[in-house]
This record gives sequence, structure tokens and C-alpha cells, in this order.
Amino acid sequence: MKILVINAGSSSLKYQLIDMDTITVAAKGLCERIGIEGSNLQHKNVVAEKEVKIEKPMKNHADAIQMVIDALISKDYGVLSSMDEIGAVGHRVVHGGEQFSDSVVIDASVKKALEMCTPLAPLHNPPNIIGIEACEKIMPNVKQVAVFDTAFHQTIPQEAYMYALPYEYYEKYRIRKYGFHGTSHKYVSQKAAEILGKPLSELKIVTCHLGNGSSITAVDKGISVDTSMGFTPLDGVVMGTRTGMMDPAVVTSLMENEKLDAKAVNDIMNKKSGVLGVSGISSDFRDLIAAADEGNKRAKLALDMFTYSVKKFIGAYAAAMGGIDAVVFTAGVGENNGFIREDIVKGLEFMGIKIDSKKNSTRGEIDISASDASVKTLVIPTNEELMIAIDTKRLVQI
Ligand code: AMP
Repeated sequence: MKILVINAGSSSLKYQLIDMDTITVAAKGLCERIGIEGSNLQHKNVVAEKEVKIEKPMKNHADAIQMVIDALISKDYGVLSSMDEIGAVGHRVVHGGEQFSDSVVIDASVKKALEMCTPLAPLHNPPNIIGIEACEKIMPNVKQVAVFDTAFHQTIPQEAYMYALPYEYYEKYRIRKYGFHGTSHKYVSQKAAEILGKPLSELKIVTCHLGNGSSITAVDKGISVDTSMGFTPLDGVVMGTRTGMMDPAVVTSLMENEKLDAKAVNDIMNKKSGVLGVSGISSDFRDLIAAADEGNKRAKLALDMFTYSVKKFIGAYAAAMGGIDAVVFTAGVGENNGFIREDIVKGLEFMGIKIDSKKNSTRGEIDISASDASVKTLVIPTNEELMIAIDTKRLVQI
């Protein structure tokens, strides 16, 4: 079965066609500037290693999906003989609220529920829904599945997901921790069990998804029991441009002192803070490492704040689970930077976490634990698209 995985943003659309018989990516690509001048499709036939960039107006997501299908069935750079070979479509959907604790086959009632989740993710859910509707229009007979970033975290117990606000705000607005990056945390925790050769049901794992946005999750027996992001993806560890956790009184203090409205302060916390805000240089960790190496103190401070915040969550989640068998690093920073991994775990030897410097300098999927470590440390490249395809296949075959 071939599954088309779609990740629709407001003006972009990423896709992968995954062959589930061989678990390989047949084609992938990106539509950019949908609805804006200069729209284009970048498509890669992975099998034949052919790449193409097509510049053509796409006035909406339906146009974009049609271009994706045309590319997939193209005689020159396609991978399918006809659209009928697409067995199902899996959509990444950011917010499933409290309704969805698993992926789901999309029907009219699911779409209604997705719209009800929109106030919780006003920037992300609308383009996700538009992507679904565009696929329904072009492939009316193909089953569509929604895979949520929040679903994996719906197992978090109430004492961990509630905020200590008056209870009525939870009842009125559903203000609580939801957590994000769920598809990634689920994928790498399952993969960790495979690598360790143990059932997931016997493992306590802390998964560290460290990218431009970062989150840490406590995965106990395969179930998310706590995660660092919250009501929105702003909470938790220090990130590229986001603050992570801080005293909420800072918000009102800033609003008063700088005469800012809610939108302005929200913009500062989401787009101008994190390692970018502290360093004043960049949100890209590679730039910060280069600057810190040249002696820039604020770049070094930003990196130290980042690694310290991740270290604290590893300790907190080991406490939450009453133990820890493995730490997993994934995503752009977690997969690619041994120095940052080393800084994070430095000082955690008392918990049994210790890495081997030589193994830590290697790339790709690897167990980087020292031989005398009682807790395993693993680097596992995340693969959210594959996880979406696996869930989609599972649900359409029922
Ligand atoms: P992601 O959000 O998972 O795509 O990750 C993006 C982030 O990964 C960027 O902010 C980069 O700074 C970071 N990144 C990628 N490669 C490296 C590297 N070799 N060292 C440090 N950070 C990296």
C-alpha cells in the first residue's frame, strides 16, 4: 500500500509518498507560496533520484494537491502510473484538543470536531483542515486519516496536565497542558524499545525532541505521562525563538512597563525570545556554537540556558516516572550535535546517565551510552511522516 502523507501549512504544503510494503519514501516534496505570487512545487522522485522545480500559480491548497498528484503520476519524474495507486492519505493535524487520543479516519463529524479545536491552535488547524478538504475534493474515494501532534499526550494524568488556575477556566476554555510533537515522541520511544530489544511496556524513557521548537516527554511503558510543552508550544525548555517556562508575572510586568498589548507580548515570547533573544545573534544553534567558539558570551549564555533547561526536565521526568531506563535525543539539534548532548547529560552520572565521547561524535541512529552506564542514551532520527503513514495504514485497514 502507498500512503500520501500531507503536512499543510498556511501557504505551504509538504508531502511524502511512502511505500508501506518496503517502508521506503518513493517521492517527496514541498509546495511553497500557495495563494501568493511565485508559487512553486519542488518534487523529488526518490527512487530515480530525479528532482524538479515547477513554478506555476497555485491559488489555493486544492491547486497545490492537484500539482502534487500530477507530479506523482508524471511520466518524466513521477512514481505512480495512476492516482488510484494511492491507498490512503495521512494528514498531520496540530491540535486534536481533548477529543482525540488517537489518530482517526476523517468523516464529517471529525471535521466538525477539528473546527471546534481551532481556537486552541488558530494558526495551525485552519490550514490543516484546508489540506484535508483539498484532498477530499481531488481524491473523493480515498480514505483520509488525521494524525494529531497532541494525541500521544492525552494519556497524561490530570494532576500533570492541569494548571493551578481557578477550575472554571478549564471548564470554560479548556485551558490545560496539551503537549505537542507527539508523533515524534511516539516514534522515537517505539524505536528505542526496538533498539534496546525490550518491550516498550517495560521501559521508562525520556525523549528529548530538540529542534527549533523543543519538547521533552516522559514515556512510561509506552505512554506519555508528562511533557514539557503546555497549552501552547511556548512552554517548557528554552527554544530557538520561544521563551520556554518562566514566571507568568513576567508577562504582565512587560505589558505594563513596555505598554504592550496581548498580541505584542505574545509575539515577543514566541518569535523574539529563546536563544535568539538572549544571544541577539541567531535562533540557529550552529550560528550560536560558532559565535560561542569565538568568545561571544551571550551566545555561550544562550546555549548554557538551553542545555540546563533540558537537563532539568530529564531529572524531573525521571522523578515523575520513579526511574529511567533510557534518554533519547532526536530532531535537528538532538540528532546532529554531540557537544550539546554532552553538555545536557554532564552531571547526570549520579543517575546512571553517561555517554561515550567517541560514539557521541558519530551520526545517525546510535546507542551513545558509555559501557558502564546503567541508563542508555540513544540518538534516534525522528520520522514523523513514517509514523503518520503507519497510523494511517493501521486505521484504514480496520
Ligand atoms: P528541526 O526543528 O528539527 O528541523 O531542527 C532545526 C534546528 O536544528 C535548527 O535550529 C538548527 O540550528 C539545528 N541544527 C541542525 N544541524 C545542527 C548541528 N549540526 N548542530 C547544531 N544544531 C543543528
